[in-house]
Parts: sequence; C-alpha cells; structure tokens
Amino acid sequence: MNSQDLSQRVLNMEPSATIAMNQKSREMKAEGKDVISLSLGEPDFPTPEVIKDAAIQALENNHTYYPPIAGVLELKKAIQSKLKRENGLEYETNEIIVSTGAKQSIANAILALINPGDEVLLPAPYWVSYYEQIKLAGGIPVIVPTTIESDFKVTPDLLAEYISPKSKLIIYSSPCNPSGSLYAKEELNALADEVLKHESLYVLSDEIYEYINFEGEHYSLANYAPIKPRTLTVNGVAKGFAMTGWRIGYLAGPKWIVDACSKIQGQFTSGANSIAQYATIEAMNQGKTIALPMVKAYKERRKLVFDLLSEIPGFKVNQPKGAFYFFPDISEILGKKFNGNKIKTDVDLCNFLLEEALVGVVPGVAFGNDRCIRISYATSEEVLKEAMNRIKNAIEKLA
Ligand code: GLU
Repeated sequence: MNSQDLSQRVLNMEPSATIAMNQKSREMKAEGKDVISLSLGEPDFPTPEVIKDAAIQALENNHTYYPPIAGVLELKKAIQSKLKRENGLEYETNEIIVSTGAKQSIANAILALINPGDEVLLPAPYWVSYYEQIKLAGGIPVIVPTTIESDFKVTPDLLAEYISPKSKLIIYSSPCNPSGSLYAKEELNALADEVLKHESLYVLSDEIYEYINFEGEHYSLANYAPIKPRTLTVNGVAKGFAMTGWRIGYLAGPKWIVDACSKIQGQFTSGANSIAQYATIEAMNQGKTIALPMVKAYKERRKLVFDLLSEIPGFKVNQPKGAFYFFPDISEILGKKFNGNKIKTDVDLCNFLLEEALVGVVPGVAFGNDRCIRISYATSEEVLKEAMNRIKNAIEKLA
C-alpha cells in the first residue's frame, strides 16, 4: 500500500510549478529564513472595499444556499453587460458559465472538447496548468516554441507548422502569463484566419490579465466574427480586481459548449461559492476603472524591475506589455558554476536563487521554455528592490 497505487492519471501529473515554488518559499520562511517569494502571480493589493461590502451584504441577505450550477443569473447578466460594454462582445446569459476560478473554466473547456489523442496547440511560453489539464483529458499538448527575440509571440506561419489533422484546440493568453506579451488585434485576427482553415479547430482565449495592460485597449478575439463560433473567452476576477482568494472565473462561448461545461461542473463542484458570486456582481458593475490605481502601480514596478534586471549579467530582458511578470532569458548563465557545482538548467538556477539569494522564482520549463525564468512583480517596490539586489549579488558569484 503506497503511492504507486494512485491512478495513472495522477501519477502522470506534475504539481503546479508556481504553487510548488511558492510552497517551498513558505516552508523556508516558516524555518525562519528571510525568503522573498516572487513565484506566485498574486496581486498584493486587498480586494476593493466596495466589493467586500457586496459580499457582506450577500451574507446578510442569506445568499447561503446552493447557487445554480452555471452561476447566479444576476451575475451572468452583469458579466453579459461587462462583455458588451468593455469588450464589444454579445453573449446570451445561457452562453456564459461561472466557475470556481478561471482555472476551472479552462479545465471544463478542455474536458468538454478533448478526446484522447486530440492535439492541443500551446504557443510557448504558456501558463503551467494548461499542459497538465490537457494531459488529464488524454489530449496531447503540442508546444509551439517562441523566443524573446520575437517577443514570445507566434505568427500564423509558425502556427501552421504545428497544426495537424488531430489539432482540436489552441490555448493562449494575452496579456500572456508568463511573458507579459500582448497580441495586437491584427496579429490575433491573422492567427484566427489560420485556425479557420482547419475544420473543428477551436480557440480558448484566456483574458484573465485583461486589465493589466500598459499599452492601450484590450482586444478580445471573439470580436472577429468568423472565429466567434469557435472561440471560448475565459476571464475572472482574481488578477484585475485583486480577488485571488474568492475563486470566481467565467467562460463565454457557444451554448453547446457552455452546456457541456455546466454538465461537468454539476458533477464535480456544483455552482461556485455563492457569496463570492454576489461580490463579483459588484466587481463586474465597477469594471476596469476600479483596477486603474493597481495598474498604475504595476506599471511603475515594471519600470523599476526592468531597469534593475537589465543590470544583471547574463539576463536578457524584454519589456512586458501586460500582466505582472518578467520572463528573462537566462541561457548565458547556464553552464556557470557556484562552489564547483554547475548550474545546468533553469531549475538549477531557480534552486540556486532560492538557496543563495533567498528569492523564489519559477523555472521557465514549467511554462514550456527552459531558457527562461519567471519573476512576478506583483509586490511592493521596496521588496522588489531588495529581491533584484539579492539576485544580482548571487549571479555575480557565478563563475
Ligand atoms: N495564475 C497564477 C500564477 O501563474 C497563480 C498560481 C496558479 O494558479 O498557478 O502564478
């Protein structure tokens, strides 16, 4: 009787690297070590008061019963109007489903669409959980590699090289976790034209970092009419509204896929937390203006971290246009030694930084690019300065 008795499905699954690195940092902190964790992508801001008040009101109104599986109707209406107002997208309420975080929205979509052997295209770097969720569904993740030189973006020609008759879905995020890259409207529509050449190829557009965009207007792919019937738009409140702990995400797409997600959710988790759903109505009604002070702070931090990272020898850095991560290329550092031990991989480098600099960051391999590491800057400038200083000092010790 041991862990080998676990299902093959779970034995084949890797733990989430972002969560694992954060856990490691937490454990070291508990041992009394002064660790700075820049591993988890989590806003350091508290949830805005007006949203918290809505949750308190929901409790007082006894919204404590099972909510409908696909979400409270009032919330679906608020999401519907947010999508119209901010994204120019028209969905019926039965084309929207609320879930326990965008992570569940994505898992539902993958389970709803992917048969064993189906291929799912992942422009890399991609968010960690896509890969494991695809495997769990029996699908085959197909990585479409990019480099920092192309701003970590794929082109239609590159995508075409990886499309096969088994391709069923493509998943991307823009703004991207972990690269911070943004696709412009023209770039996304051109990728969509490539997708449209292939029958039964769907797109999941993960827009969770929508508000954290330093360049201008967010563009939702579903605005491009020909691709809309094949597009699943996923979003949530964790990042833009600083509501990570509330666990509310949503998906908008064709009713038949939304119905399938609802069927899955009905067997797995039922409707998402009712109090959090009522609080989310307020978040949707507030919209992006409530996020602006936070976005301003992220933008200032981005400048600070960009300047400091650029001074670290062996770090190749680009300017992320959104989200709150840097994804520097650290190829030049690989092969260097510390006390005779070679830093062979991005994982070795992250372990070295955790032990020597007491800074937790995530190896790029978890995002499909082992030449990079991910650094979250969703924390105060003071902490960021200290962390960058520690990283620089540690890297300078390498020979
Ligand atoms: N999405 C965040 C990140 O990438 C939160 C952690 C997670 O769910 O993986 O760090």
